[in-house]
Amino acid sequence: MTEAFKHPSDETLQRYACGNLRPGLAMVMRVHLGGCPSCRATLRRFEAVGGALLDDLPPAGISAALLEKVFARIDSGEAPQEARAAPVFTADGFALPAAMAGCKVGPWRFVHPKLRWARVEVPGAEQDRVILLKIAAGFAAPAHGHGGLELTQVLAGGFSDGRAQYEPGDLIEADESLTDHEPRVTGDEDCLCLAAVEKPLRIRSLLGRLFQPLMGI
Ligand SMILES: [Zn+2]
Repeated sequence: MTEAFKHPSDETLQRYACGNLRPGLAMVMRVHLGGCPSCRATLRRFEAVGGALLDDLPPAGISAALLEKVFARIDSGEAPQEARAAPVFTADGFALPAAMAGCKVGPWRFVHPKLRWARVEVPGAEQDRVILLKIAAGFAAPAHGHGGLELTQVLAGGFSDGRAQYEPGDLIEADESLTDHEPRVTGDEDCLCLAAVEKPLRIRSLLGRLFQPLMGI
């Protein structure tokens, strides 16, 4: 049951397959797909359906730009690889997934002794809201609701949000329906997450209100 919370929804996979996610969110999806055979299989099914639909459409019904996107995705095979770009490291030398190649990671900034964040710039979409979050063991992130889609991929350590216990490789999808989401780091290890949001967070706690303007998210 809790397994369902550890992968993107079918709707988000479909939006990804259609090239319909902001580049920041799409990059988080690539990190997840790189390590998740079951989501890669679902994505291939959606792409097969999309291809069949294209076959049935009159040529005038499809824009050149959309066709180009579809063929680019088909050409790229399973999970798109950007392995040729330089590998990405955080300011303290943590090696990040190959799907983040080409991204620029800013310096760690402190919000609290146990909470650090760094802005991630996705090539061609520098304004997208993408961050790395490093949260010390035992610390809880500010309680927040969500406006729009938020994707969080666990890179190291683990946390729990009352619904499930998450580990590296898990992707947590949140949207308007999830209220007062308050992730808490579990275990002895610091937790490193990659997060992208579609719209600014609605943060309710005092720490959250301090955190929001500092993060610009
Ligand atoms: Zn998955």
